[in-house]
Amino acid sequence: MTDDHTGLLVVVAGPSGVGKGTVHAELRRRLPDAVRSVSATTRAPRPGEVDGVDYHFVDVATFRRMVDDGRLLEWAEYAGNLYGTPRDPAADAVRGGGVVLLDIEVQGALQVKAADPDALLIFLHPPSMEELERRLRGRGTEDDEVIGWRLEVAREEIAGATAFDLEVVNDRLDDCVDEVLTAIDVARRAATDDVTF
Ligand code: 5GP
Repeated sequence: MTDDHTGLLVVVAGPSGVGKGTVHAELRRRLPDAVRSVSATTRAPRPGEVDGVDYHFVDVATFRRMVDDGRLLEWAEYAGNLYGTPRDPAADAVRGGGVVLLDIEVQGALQVKAADPDALLIFLHPPSMEELERRLRGRGTEDDEVIGWRLEVAREEIAGATAFDLEVVNDRLDDCVDEVLTAIDVARRAATDDVTF
């Protein structure tokens, strides 16, 4: 359905607990030509995470050098750690006509749009704040203080959602993914072939 010749950066962002990971996984399943951008981060790997697959795990000095050398398309600090999108792999994939999926937080998303006006920014909303809290508690991994902090960050992120191209409520996963895929299709047709970032 999509125009196979035009590459596109697609950011799907949203607060912690909104189901971002599941939406990203489903998008990759239904968009076989999509590639996932592998971010650099200074945070420590979690059990099971693989360097170069889940993230490029780097120290702060290396990260700073990547920033100084202009090797990151965007970067931000989140929960005391640095995260950034390597520029060249994303540009190469877009030049090759692929869709590049970015799972990044809101500040970084806005930097992507500034660097590449063709980029499609999608914000995932929870059905309600009550539902978001329920999902965060349902993980069972975090104490009240962390959940309170995540809800506070979520409120700030939701306040920035109007700057996104599209806001989608992640209530039913299939409906949400359908809506995102339609938006990707439209944006791909509208995007120019030039890669300027
Ligand atoms: P986590 O540490 O749980 O993997 O990710 C924490 C947050 O950082 C998530 O909201 C994730 O989307 C965001 N993130 C991951 N990679 C990047 C990146 O390259 N840039 C930015 N700005 N945020 C990122």
